[in-house]
Amino acid sequence: MLKIPCTSKIDHMSAINQPAARCKDGDTVIFQTMDCFDGAVTDKGIFDREGKKEGKYMANPATGPLYIEGAMPGDALSVEILDIQTRGWGVMGTGFGQNAFINYKGESEMRVFNYEDGFVKIGSKQIPTDIMIGVIGVAPAGDPIPTVTPDSHGGNMDCNRIVTGSKILFPVAVEGGLLAMGDLHALMGDGEVFEYGLETAGEVTARVKVVKNAVKKLAIKQPTLYQGGRVMTVASAKTYEDAVRLALEAMYEYLLARGWEKVDAGMLMSMKCDLAICQIVDPQITVRAMMDENLI
Ligand code: CA
Ligand code: CA
Repeated sequence: MLKIPCTSKIDHMSAINQPAARCKDGDTVIFQTMDCFDGAVTDKGIFDREGKKEGKYMANPATGPLYIEGAMPGDALSVEILDIQTRGWGVMGTGFGQNAFINYKGESEMRVFNYEDGFVKIGSKQIPTDIMIGVIGVAPAGDPIPTVTPDSHGGNMDCNRIVTGSKILFPVAVEGGLLAMGDLHALMGDGEVFEYGLETAGEVTARVKVVKNAVKKLAIKQPTLYQGGRVMTVASAKTYEDAVRLALEAMYEYLLARGWEKVDAGMLMSMKCDLAICQIVDPQITVRAMMDENLI
């Protein structure tokens, strides 16, 4: 099976990136990923800040990109997450003085958590891990987008429903799609509120398929995620208002493209569509709109 090593990494998603590997429509590929620190933090929690300043490490690297034969602008790229394996430890930093914790000062700390047994211990609590992919996306058509930034190409969406067994459709903007992923988290609540997930590294096994003309025909305008019997439109923007609107517009158009009449679609959404915040800490806010698949 094709495996892309973690040394084949990018810090921008871009049409001009050279593919790290090529595959056929329907292939299964393993992406070996670094954590978001690109290895700058050791399993003892020691952060090589000097090396970081000197540019030794990438910010939030993604492994890839993978060129998928036959993927063209206007198509969607379907990515099925078949398996995620991670190392047995993760690291978290602190979020004092930033975002929702802007009014709080505190010690900056890098803390390592071991979770080989599938549980992470904090305080007196043992919490089961729930491994997810923070960064996953295709190349945008326009300017390169840093891998720390989420947008309609995907990227740093930090959506905790991107787990083993999920499937995501991305609108393809450039030939080959140029899929990349990284930034695995062993555990993260909706919002990633204190700045970090439980940051880790590992291997993702994914099957890629091209869905022809899906952007128009199936209204795949934003990353569209299937998980746990639900379909979710995931959208990112500078403000909460815009992110919410984009996620809802994508869901509404998804319903219209599947034969729902306009008023029924809106009313159904008021009845059964749930909104959730994916993350509030990246350069753009990410939200998702969710509906039961069997209603559509
Ligand atoms: Ca992230
Ligand atoms: Ca992260």
